[in-house]
Amino acid sequence: MDLKGKKIVVIGMGRTGIETAQFLGTRGALVFVTDEKPREQWGAEFEQMAAGQGWLIVAEYGVDILNEADMVVPSPGVPPHNNILRAAQEKNIPVVSEVELAAEFLQTPIIVITGTNGKTTTTSLLGRIMERSGKKVFVGGNIGNPLIGCILSGEKPDYIVAEISSFQLQWTDKFHPFVAVLLNVTCDHVDYHGSFAEYRRVKAKVFANQTKADFALLNADDGIQKGMEAAIGARLFRFSSHSELTSGIYLKGNSIICKGLTNGEEQYPLSMIKIPGRHNVENVMAAILAARLCGCSQEDIIAAVADFRGLPHRIEYAGEVKGVKFYDDSKGTNVGSVERALQTFTQPVVLLLGGRDKDGDFDTLQPLLAERTKQIVLFGEARDRIESLIGAGVPVEKKEKLREAVLSAYQKAVSGDVVLLSPGCASFDEFKNYKERGDYFKEVVRSL
Ligand code: ADP
Repeated sequence: MDLKGKKIVVIGMGRTGIETAQFLGTRGALVFVTDEKPREQWGAEFEQMAAGQGWLIVAEYGVDILNEADMVVPSPGVPPHNNILRAAQEKNIPVVSEVELAAEFLQTPIIVITGTNGKTTTTSLLGRIMERSGKKVFVGGNIGNPLIGCILSGEKPDYIVAEISSFQLQWTDKFHPFVAVLLNVTCDHVDYHGSFAEYRRVKAKVFANQTKADFALLNADDGIQKGMEAAIGARLFRFSSHSELTSGIYLKGNSIICKGLTNGEEQYPLSMIKIPGRHNVENVMAAILAARLCGCSQEDIIAAVADFRGLPHRIEYAGEVKGVKFYDDSKGTNVGSVERALQTFTQPVVLLLGGRDKDGDFDTLQPLLAERTKQIVLFGEARDRIESLIGAGVPVEKKEKLREAVLSAYQKAVSGDVVLLSPGCASFDEFKNYKERGDYFKEVVRSL
């Protein structure tokens, strides 16, 4: 792709937008940048990057920016129904995501991890396995490290391990991973994509350009993925935490068994996994398959998995007060992750649910709530909607703010119970992001 002299519009000046603009500048493009937020709120690196650059023009936010534009690169957070993006499509101006652009210029094989939940966990783990195996790896994408940065840095890794969200897949056309992992697909981001069907369609794009030289790793237990298989051109491997497979990787008793990758069968002890829940067994299985396809040894995989203690705010133990254990699952921002968090505990759970709703299908939680929770405390903007959807099976309390909700949950709990923050919603009604929400939760727990 020749970018020299092209007028390229970059929307959104967070880290992805800033690095994209910088990259385009190095390739001789004329870069128009804009954001709906005022310039004082743009990413901290912007002013430094922009200083004295003749190729960079800060333009007013609006459709006029499209005049004579050759291409638009939106930041992942800009929804498809955004005015400028709609206008670009009407004018037949290509809209291209940063990952698509980066991939055009990268020669390195890309291992993509996508899915509704588990992306960051699996991406981090796979990165660590690769490092343990002595491979040079760039871990990036939605994890907070734009792929375009790999080009800017001049690094020449053996592999790129990329967490890719549906927002990033939205504007791809030629994106072509060597290994594409789809962990799971459950309802999420309906507010962004418009419908669950559209979200599923966008997720399936990860496989669209793969050929027989590539690999697609699918979750055999996920009904939605079955419907995608027929259109996949890559070699398929499946993982399952529920049933034995003739080829692929699955859980059997206390072992993870991998068949069909090499001659014979490989076994991994379940006890190597230190992160909680069956969903994490699935994440580990997906990482093992991807790692083996990239030439990592069984020994290195076992050692790296055994060392991996998980990431903050994902069912993270947050302390114990008078026999009540607290867990921070602030990253559980959709119904699918709440479901998996609840399945992780055998103790009675007091569940903290709420925040900013993304049109989540909370009604589907009903049976599990009845089985696993003794009390639900709803909080934040979504509290009334969630109450109307979860039915009357379990006692419910409603609080406006998280702090009052935690205090109330603690009052309802007795020694031996678990208080779980797995909100199933975004955090933006009260917090900057899920991290701030999780840290605040832990602070309140410490104060008890
Ligand atoms: P993502 O990057 O896709 O948001 P994370 O690894 O950050 O995924 O985890 C987000 C939430 O999903 C956490 O609540 C975590 O406990 C839960 N989770 C992790 N892996 C899975 C999985 N395979 N299936 C369902 N939920 C999961």
